[in-house]
Amino acid sequence: MSDYSSNIDFIDLKSQQALIRSEIEQAITKVLDHGNYIMGPEVKDLEKKLGKFCNVDHVISCANGTDAISLALMSLDVKKNDAIFVPSFTYIATAEAPAILGLKPFFVDVDKDSFNLCPISLKNAIEESIKIGLNPKVIISVELFGNPTDYAAIKDIAKEYDIKLLIDAAQSFGSSYKKNMIGSIGDIVTTSFFPAKPMGCYGDGGAIFTNNKALSQKLDSLRLHGRGEHKYDHPRIGMNSRLDSIQACIIIEKLKIFKNELKKKQLIADKYNHELSEICKVPILNKDCTSSWAQYTIQVDKRDELKAHLERMNIPTAIYYPIPLHMQEGYKDYPTSKLGCPNSEELSKKVISLPMSAYLAHDAQKKIINEIKNFYLMN
Ligand SMILES: *Cc1c(COP(=O)(O)O)cnc(C)c1O
Repeated sequence: MSDYSSNIDFIDLKSQQALIRSEIEQAITKVLDHGNYIMGPEVKDLEKKLGKFCNVDHVISCANGTDAISLALMSLDVKKNDAIFVPSFTYIATAEAPAILGLKPFFVDVDKDSFNLCPISLKNAIEESIKIGLNPKVIISVELFGNPTDYAAIKDIAKEYDIKLLIDAAQSFGSSYKKNMIGSIGDIVTTSFFPAKPMGCYGDGGAIFTNNKALSQKLDSLRLHGRGEHKYDHPRIGMNSRLDSIQACIIIEKLKIFKNELKKKQLIADKYNHELSEICKVPILNKDCTSSWAQYTIQVDKRDELKAHLERMNIPTAIYYPIPLHMQEGYKDYPTSKLGCPNSEELSKKVISLPMSAYLAHDAQKKIINEIKNFYLMN
């Protein structure tokens, strides 16, 4: 049947599950048999495998990607007056983690091509934070939609002001920057295993990556209520943020097919790029980078009309993100650079993410492309 009118998934997790369902069932059965549900042998095994996959010395799993950011900040000895620089155009968790710790998220504008931190806006924000009496402490760089940040400029700025670089790689597990997988760049890197992320489990999960042994030991303690030498020794205040064995065993199975999925997603992105580059702004990757394609996001005019048209044609799309963080009611008391975040505001009106997964069928993609072309022919 070539009629995909009712069954295009925005992210096709069903086909992936069908492919590895029996392996996953066997792995879950093993956990049920040994009964070590929290931090069982699968968790240690997964941490080792993730370290190998990303070529990073230490991996600390945790309960979700938001906790991963909180734990990473806590490990960097943050204090109340610390400014934490975050892009305004990202998912709320990036700013929520510093805010909930009592720190000061400072909103920075993004680059219109990469969707990631704009170095000029960043530098400006750092200078302003010093002027208003804050202590510039951590830059959180988000690799939005899977697109690695151009770190040359960002790293120079971090060095100049002696600020730590934390990478929120919730959307970029599997991406690479100059042949380095995420986790090997920056002081500390976090990711999420929420089901719809490039690497997702069947519940919540997250991980933190670092090459710094002292930091990794601290993180291991922080995720276990700040435990010390033994279970009831607590030299620091921590969190309850553990990964469970069932989620770990699912990620282990998914890792086996992940590289192949990344290749397939790149082919789908290539096809979108080729077909759509003349009618809209397609995503641009930085030089020597690969993307995990958490989202395939284009920038268009008449965005809301296009979305409505595609909906009528049973093509699911999503808007990531409709409101920049510096404009969110709950965050209005936090500082933003005096230059504002005009790119974030413009992107929030122009972006639309198209169905993307390694399992997007050829005919389905053709239909999506044709309907976008049809819309702009008619409008
Ligand atoms: C999903 C996401 C998070 C949070 O991950 P959870 O596992 O849902 O807590 C953080 N940052 C970004 C950029 C995300 O996309």
